Amino acid sequence: AHLDHIAAVDTDVHAFLHVAGASALAAAAAVDAQRAAGAVLGPLAGVPIAIKDVLATRDMPSTAGSKILEGWIPPYDATVVRLVREAGLIPLGKTNMDEFAMGSSTEFSAYGPTHNPWDLDRIPGGSGGGSAAAVSAFEAPLALGSDTGGSIRQPAAVTGSVGVKPTYGGVSRYGAIALASSLDQVGPVSRTVYDAALLHDVLSGHDPLDSTSLTDRWPSMAAAAIAGRVDGALTGVRIGVVKELSGPGFQPGVLQRFNETLAMLVAAGAEIEEVSAPSFEYAVAAYYLILPAEASSNLARFDSVRFGIRVDPEEGPLTSERVMAATRDAGFGPEVKRRIILGTYALSAGYYDAYYGSAQKVRTLIQRDFDAAFEKVDVLLSPSAPTTAFKFGEKMDDPMAMYLNDVTTIPANLAGIPGMSLPMGLAPEDGLPVGLQVMAPAKQDARLYTFGAAVE
Ligand code: GLN
Repeated sequence: AHLDHIAAVDTDVHAFLHVAGASALAAAAAVDAQRAAGAVLGPLAGVPIAIKDVLATRDMPSTAGSKILEGWIPPYDATVVRLVREAGLIPLGKTNMDEFAMGSSTEFSAYGPTHNPWDLDRIPGGSGGGSAAAVSAFEAPLALGSDTGGSIRQPAAVTGSVGVKPTYGGVSRYGAIALASSLDQVGPVSRTVYDAALLHDVLSGHDPLDSTSLTDRWPSMAAAAIAGRVDGALTGVRIGVVKELSGPGFQPGVLQRFNETLAMLVAAGAEIEEVSAPSFEYAVAAYYLILPAEASSNLARFDSVRFGIRVDPEEGPLTSERVMAATRDAGFGPEVKRRIILGTYALSAGYYDAYYGSAQKVRTLIQRDFDAAFEKVDVLLSPSAPTTAFKFGEKMDDPMAMYLNDVTTIPANLAGIPGMSLPMGLAPEDGLPVGLQVMAPAKQDARLYTFGAAVE
């Protein structure tokens, strides 16, 4: 049924870069056979899932939205892909994304944009617009995303979906094509908080193949979500509203829905206080130094030899350096080039302390702001994004405008804490979905699910 629905709507939505028709049916038949043989299967066995193209899949192309990886089929599965297969989930295909997960609109995909199912003239968010649009258009009930600065939460917000960025280290990054390794996390996209929790339980856990993977034992997120459905679950919950993330510059309808949500929470017995996080003012600036610095290093591996395409220079000798330059010139799009240049500049001798060093100091200050806030409150709230889905082309010529859209989501990545976006209605002025962002201290992902399920 999902493959039929993809065939019917994906010419309009373009959530998928690759649909795995035959292998999905074979995987589903295998689960049916196990069930018929009396096997005890997990709660998600037989449930279809869409996979962001940043994740390595041994039976499907993995391009990360880039021409440079066109046609590349990895020899192995990302750990999260292995885990979803082992849990009996059925991969339906690979979803569209901004090239190498750089962007907030999916317009930077080398394979054309994804359209927001709520209004096909608008962006589905980014970089994981394909995963969120697939879930929102009922092409898949679940999807995998990756979130370096908001790429799960912001697309979830603007498509009326649920998206979760786990605590850094909670989910393996092995086989996730790296953007910025100190920020990247893989996580679930879904239509309900409980669905996200079930998928989170499949994904989390220690992976010896990822050197930053935590060795903690995680509580059941599904049980945490069920705890949130009990009457009175919000009574006495201490909520902090981040002053810096909900004021001037935000779309009026977004703020209106946010304030209504706060009023509802007070009525349900929660205690709300305003929290100030003065360093957040510098978060976007710090992120757009740290991310390009790490990305420029990570993307050095695309050298025309090991992965993807090779392009020879039009004239002159075929030295390895010139082949590499011609390949990278043809294979990388404009945003990727912009960030490589920004990153190598920020890391150059003589500028390192001024840019990268300062950005790392800001990162520490942001972590301290979170620590101080979480001494007083259980969760922090803000809108997930300052606006609803914008129109195609609106921010394409203005990188700063695109970057500023990430103001709400970036602090959680810089601090490594978990964050969730869940729907909080439609903005009155345009009828488009608005997201509520919930943040909790590091390793307290379960708290997001209890709170999110209570609010939902
Ligand atoms: N919009 C952010 C960026 O362009 C988010 C990226 C991400 O989370 N992958 O960097």
